[in-house]
Amino acid sequence: MVEDLAKSFGGVHAVDGVSFAIPRGSLTGMIGPNGAGKSTVLGMIAGAIRPDRGSIALEGQEIAGLPSHRTARRGVVRTFQAASVFPRMTVLENLLLGVPPWHGEGIAAALLGRRRWRREEREQVLRARELLARLGISSMADTFAAQLSGGQKRLVEIGRAMMARPRLLLLDEPMAGVSRTLAPVIEALVAELREEGMTVLLIEHELALVERLCSPVVVLAQGRVLMQGEMAEARANPEVRRAYLVG
Ligand code: ADP
Ligand code: MG
Repeated sequence: MVEDLAKSFGGVHAVDGVSFAIPRGSLTGMIGPNGAGKSTVLGMIAGAIRPDRGSIALEGQEIAGLPSHRTARRGVVRTFQAASVFPRMTVLENLLLGVPPWHGEGIAAALLGRRRWRREEREQVLRARELLARLGISSMADTFAAQLSGGQKRLVEIGRAMMARPRLLLLDEPMAGVSRTLAPVIEALVAELREEGMTVLLIEHELALVERLCSPVVVLAQGRVLMQGEMAEARANPEVRRAYLVG
């Protein structure tokens, strides 16, 4: 639940009093023209951008203004508009980096003891390999991420996010920069996450895709929410049409 969220950059009101809900277990879509403030909203939920004001409640707990490592610990995991992988690490290592730190570091690891920690690590590697199979990129486990295509990087990025078993997954235009062959693979994956009941916020500009995948949708324009409802309503809404025409 996001309430009255706001962020300015210099004089620009990028996000200007935004309120909406991401129902638990939903695949909520966020649409709106370029510059509407979508990525900024996502960044604030993820803890990467500190809001000027407003509240973000995750399952009843306030997370607005927490730094990203703390929102991550609460189960908020994101991907970026420009696919971001660790180029000089292998695909498998990239996935393992998604495992939350409390599984193998610091006090927890010390308390668990080395043997148990090793076992956990083995389990994570198994999970990562299962995920790679599911993503259809098993054969690339030992390839350096730098060598992947845009779409493959995207798959790795989503796989890394899934390793964290998120309570809220934030996807910023996951089809951007993805080839025509891989886009349907990513769409199918997102649809599967929805079937599994994962709570997802998906930013996407292709309306047909949002219509196939998302319910509800939030429409943003010029830093404000134009409407929240079903995609069919959004299409019929004159304000939404105008916002898209104006760009
Ligand atoms: P969207 O993702 O909907 O395209 P953004 O959230 O990226 O929109 O951007 C919203 C507005 O805020 C735009 O006018 C953009 O130029 C501005 N903006 C976003 N991030 C920054 C930043 N770090 N510094 C300055 N202006 C920014
Ligand atoms: Mg954006």
